[in-house]
Amino acid sequence: MDKDTILVVDDSDIICSIIKGILESPTLHIDIAHSGEEGILMAKKLRPTLILLDIIMNGIDGYETCCILKSSTETKDIPVVFITGNNDSESVLKGFEVGAADYVSKPFIPEELKARVKVHMQNIKIQRELQLLMNELKEMAVTDYLTKLHNRRYFMDQLQEFVNQYDLKLFLILFDIDNFKKINDTYGHNAGDMVLVSVSSILKLLLREEDILCRWGGEEFMICLPDVTEDIAIDLANKLRKEVSKYIFNCDGFTFQCTITGGIIQYDRAISPEKNFTNVDQALYLGKSSGKNRCIINYPILKVNE
Ligand code: GH3
Ligand code: MG
Ligand code: MG
Repeated sequence: MDKDTILVVDDSDIICSIIKGILESPTLHIDIAHSGEEGILMAKKLRPTLILLDIIMNGIDGYETCCILKSSTETKDIPVVFITGNNDSESVLKGFEVGAADYVSKPFIPEELKARVKVHMQNIKIQRELQLLMNELKEMAVTDYLTKLHNRRYFMDQLQEFVNQYDLKLFLILFDIDNFKKINDTYGHNAGDMVLVSVSSILKLLLREEDILCRWGGEEFMICLPDVTEDIAIDLANKLRKEVSKYIFNCDGFTFQCTITGGIIQYDRAISPEKNFTNVDQALYLGKSSGKNRCIINYPILKVNE
């Protein structure tokens, strides 16, 4: 595990070495800055876990230093504990007003300083764990549990971002696995799940970083291709379709192949996203009703690509 770091900002060498002597341990590293200006630079560079900040210093004082730290996105979340010689309530209050998390008074009682720092370090750890959990939850909310692809909600958000960039030409491809019910019925639901996972991997592998891919529904996958021509969109859709049709699935002792059908449209900003989805679904439907294992584009004129 990385060592936690405390940045001590104090223009007195003696105070700095006293604090270092009290706090430094195998799990806690102490860095020293001798002025507010140096403290700000070091805080940005080192991103310490906590800052201990003297109030009265040459150059900018502790209050101003704290204000600058709290107004920068890089340092605003680092808790600041003031070191104060004046524990009169006015200067303590002023410290809290400019964003301090706490204060310790000089001369230090070593056990008190350690205890206060420990409380803040524990708070920071809890906050970090909560942040990690929040990130995991956010990711879970936009991820399909089976294929680990993004889900429809994620797709809609990302698509909207592309749609807002007016100079970007967008194509949508909607794929649906052919006769998937039969795969489930013949080889079992496990095999069906495995097909969904494998098809997802094939699509993901062949798409570019900037393309959006999601599991749209049961055995449907929606793709958005930004910044491509119609020919490229059609070629790519057919490449994906052919790769899936060549793949040999092995599951529970069965060996089999499957195909997919795709609908393609150029995204039309003049109509709603829902209408665009209806259009791409219609292209897919035409592919299904005309024999499956093909890609059909319905914009600007209907083209069949077998
Ligand atoms: P078509 O070629 O016209 O698309 O026919 P199809 O059989 O693929 O389509 P249909 O809509 O009749 O059946 C889709 C099936 O997909 C029905 C449903 O049980 C199955 N399915 C949906 N989600 C899952 C899943 O997560 N796992 C498995 N194994 N099956 C699923
Ligand atoms: Mg199907
Ligand atoms: Mg379907």
